[in-house]
Amino acid sequence: MSALDRLVALLEGAERGVALTGAGVSTESGIPDFRSPSSGLWQEHDPMEVASLEGFRREPRRFYEFWGHRFGALAGAQPNVTHHVLAKLERQGKLRAVVTQNIDGLHRDAGSETVLEVHGSYRQARCLHCGAVYSLQEMERRVKSGRLPVCDACGELVKPDVVLFGEELPPVFREAERLTERADVFLVLGSSLQVHPVAGLVAVAHRHGARVAIVNREPSPYDELAEVVLHAELGATMRAVGSRL
Ligand code: NAD
Repeated sequence: MSALDRLVALLEGAERGVALTGAGVSTESGIPDFRSPSSGLWQEHDPMEVASLEGFRREPRRFYEFWGHRFGALAGAQPNVTHHVLAKLERQGKLRAVVTQNIDGLHRDAGSETVLEVHGSYRQARCLHCGAVYSLQEMERRVKSGRLPVCDACGELVKPDVVLFGEELPPVFREAERLTERADVFLVLGSSLQVHPVAGLVAVAHRHGARVAIVNREPSPYDELAEVVLHAELGATMRAVGSRL
């Protein structure tokens, strides 16, 4: 039996599956990931400057220059075959939830209903002081006109609602842990599994008896916990999975 056959068999039997997705799921929608060797964003940018709470507070202009470019790439993106196959698996009753590290909103666009965005979403922003919420359109308008987005109500800086290094995860992470503990199949797609605590969900799933499968172009630190590992392109792999389920 090939690894693909074993992946299909594992998903066929799933009743309480949970998928954990990372940036690799969206590269085929034209959104660069962070850690791919030649094209990842961290090849060009220092994460501590542009993706940490400390960097944001210290140099908000620099942060927004980076995010201004990112907004553009994210806004035009469409879900790809991997997002669509995950939505189908949920409709078939095989997946309970998609836990995603992605902030791009593409799982919802593809029709997945239970999507736990454990690193937040770029589609809204929030005042660091009073918590007032701003839409993406409003943020884009301000960033494009060269102004720093500040809160209309209290004048404090407004930050995209994404989890930066140095920030706590949102309460939805607890829900992700709960579903992971109950999962019968845990499917990891397109993540380097280097960002904690989310990467630790693989060990939680394994410890609670889930059968683990990992599809990623490169090896991950959790491959040895998985019963099926495919070092392959997601598009081709998930297209094949989708056509057989
Ligand atoms: P990562 O960049 O650390 O890892 C992505 C992995 O996906 C890499 O190992 C790469 O080899 C693999 N990959 C890329 N394209 C692939 C493809 N087509 N087929 C198979 N494998 C492929 O990303 P991560 O593990 O999600 O963690 C980084 C953080 O990046 C997360 O916190 C997330 O919030 C953030 N992020 C999100 C987006 C997004 O929303 N789309 C984009 C970049 C980064």
